[in-house]
Amino acid sequence: MADKLNAVKGMNDILPPESARWEWLEAIVRDLMGRYAYRNVRTPIVEHTALFVRGIGEVTDIVEKEMYSFEDKLNGEQLTLRPEGTASLVRAVIEHSMLYDGGKRLWYTGPMFRHERPQRGRYRQFHQVGAEVLGFAGPEVDAELILLATALWKAIDLVDVRLELNSLGQPPERAAHRAELIKHFEAHADTLDEEAKRRLHSNPLRILDTKNPAMKDVVESAPKLIDFLGAESLAHFDGLRAILDANGIGYTINPRLVRGLDYYNLTVFEFVTDRLGAQGTVCAGGRYDDLIAQIGGKPAPAVGWAMGIERVLELVKEQGTAVPLPVADAYAVIPDAAAMPVALRTLQQLRDAGVRVQMHASTVDGLGSFKSQFKKADASGAAFALVFGADEMARGEVTVKALRDGSGAQTVRSLSDVGAWAATLQSPTLLT
Ligand code: ATP
Ligand code: MG
Repeated sequence: MADKLNAVKGMNDILPPESARWEWLEAIVRDLMGRYAYRNVRTPIVEHTALFVRGIGEVTDIVEKEMYSFEDKLNGEQLTLRPEGTASLVRAVIEHSMLYDGGKRLWYTGPMFRHERPQRGRYRQFHQVGAEVLGFAGPEVDAELILLATALWKAIDLVDVRLELNSLGQPPERAAHRAELIKHFEAHADTLDEEAKRRLHSNPLRILDTKNPAMKDVVESAPKLIDFLGAESLAHFDGLRAILDANGIGYTINPRLVRGLDYYNLTVFEFVTDRLGAQGTVCAGGRYDDLIAQIGGKPAPAVGWAMGIERVLELVKEQGTAVPLPVADAYAVIPDAAAMPVALRTLQQLRDAGVRVQMHASTVDGLGSFKSQFKKADASGAAFALVFGADEMARGEVTVKALRDGSGAQTVRSLSDVGAWAATLQSPTLLT
């Protein structure tokens, strides 16, 4: 046999029954996006490296050390597996002039790639759902996005997720804060780690986003950006807060919340939980009014968030929330190959009527005994066995046997009116 090959470290297979949780969440997300009138966008997994360098910012964790970049061997282009979705979406919006007739509400989902140290809630291929609103400037769309995320937590019954909020103001306000921030960090230079020292003059705001516990004090005592905001920025922040208050959305203001990407201004927010250890942020976003121009588009305001599917599902699982398991309602036991044509025609009628049916099929050892087929039916998790035995078939009938309720009850059904009894087989199964 050939050598065994495994998946790349930090990149996971998502297999049954676990994939049922993914399908469940995806269906809820799709429905919810529709109710908020967000339209779906699908962009390529691979983009020009320059898009992320320009969009996310040169002095960020992602661009400095997390990107899967490579040269296209055929034409020498510098390419990168997307580490996030916003830059790609904005690129597409510009490329297709999508804002020509007004603002857009868009959403996406799919795999993202970052070369990080794999651990619980942190993978090298992970998945995000993102929602982005482009072309609208007011705080009401910031609020709409937060309400949308909150509605999602409610729809999947997620508890213990709280909202943290901050405002990064506008570039001149950040410049004033930046000068004070540099002074503060210079005065405490002995407490800075190597990365912070390196970023001190290139991107001091990023130091606030450090994950190094040894720098907790110096970060907590740093000047707060929110104290540097002018009247307009404060009005935007207050406008958002008023809507959240009116909708009963609780939040805390976290002055150290700066986000790991460079493109944000005004509103930034994170939904966090204490139940996932250090990987506690399940959804994060904010306003990025300058990004569209930075990527070469006509200036237009924008705001959005991205949610980490793995982290959300980890929480769902920990809470023990049950989700529908797509196992068959019925398993067809077919002892004799001669019964196959009629059996498959009957199963097709059941499937047309919405019943989930799994059929017994032959292996290299043949169809197997009646008993071994029944064992398979039991193991399949189906609620019913349909027996296509020779006697039944001769009478134009099939025997339906209950497998899961302990009764073992049997009924005989006619093959000529499948539609009349199909619904009695429907029997949802849950995964917890
Ligand atoms: P962190 O601070 O945890 O590294 P981040 O600020 O880099 O997160 P974003 O770029 O804002 O994360 O991505 C949005 C969301 O995507 C995160 O809140 C998280 O839920 C998820 N996410 C980010 N990186 C990973 C990863 N490597 N594995 C799994 N989920 C991730
Ligand atoms: Mg990160």
